[in-house]
Amino acid sequence: MIQGQCKLCLQQANLISKSHIIPFSYIKKLRDKDNRFIIAKTESWENPSWKQNFFYESSILCKNCDNELISGFERELANFDRILHERAAKGFDIGSHIVRPPTHKLVSDYPKLKLAILSIVWRAHVSQNPFFKGIDIGSHAEKIRNYLLSKSPGVDIDIRISAFGLLAQFNKIIGIITQPVMAHGDGLNYVVLILNGIVFNVELEFNKYNKVFNQSLLANGEITVIFMPPDMTFPYLNTFYKTDKFTQG
Ligand SMILES: [Zn+2]
Repeated sequence: MIQGQCKLCLQQANLISKSHIIPFSYIKKLRDKDNRFIIAKTESWENPSWKQNFFYESSILCKNCDNELISGFERELANFDRILHERAAKGFDIGSHIVRPPTHKLVSDYPKLKLAILSIVWRAHVSQNPFFKGIDIGSHAEKIRNYLLSKSPGVDIDIRISAFGLLAQFNKIIGIITQPVMAHGDGLNYVVLILNGIVFNVELEFNKYNKVFNQSLLANGEITVIFMPPDMTFPYLNTFYKTDKFTQG
């Protein structure tokens, strides 16, 4: 371990040699029997590579911030992920999804769920790993760092978070992690994280006209997740990543 300043608590401490950016629980779920998982970068989609332990950063966090503080938030996110995948596995009636896509309302621990998602955005911002190069949240990083450290995520309209489930065939949520991106322009400023087929939209600057946040996480922990049926999932990914490489299959 290297002695240095922790980027979260700013204390001088022994720094963890491998801090995960994407929580390890996702990597455990998505890797194959040989402990590998596939990484597909948006700019080089034709050549996906097999990786192990890709999403970590060295010497940015102290043991307390990584193993105690952030891990405490991540458990709520793992729970949220499990509930949505179980719900999808039960199936939806998606006959009239254009009018009304299937949704699932659940109640989470508001501070923990929000802080878990914000911690990933913050780590992606801090990370030098090229996979996260699309994430630069500027001055919002310092606000989020203070939220994490104080375990207090602010009111629900301050950095709204909404979630979509991306369904593939047979109502299964697609098991992918994509390179995080930012939606910018026309008064929009939000981060898009796709973790195990759940899209998390994280709004940095409030815009009441942004329909992406029509159903966002509330301070009482309620959140309504909208599921995109397969015929919407793949066009959504292609539009967002400006590629035509996402296909059903
Ligand atoms: Zn620390």
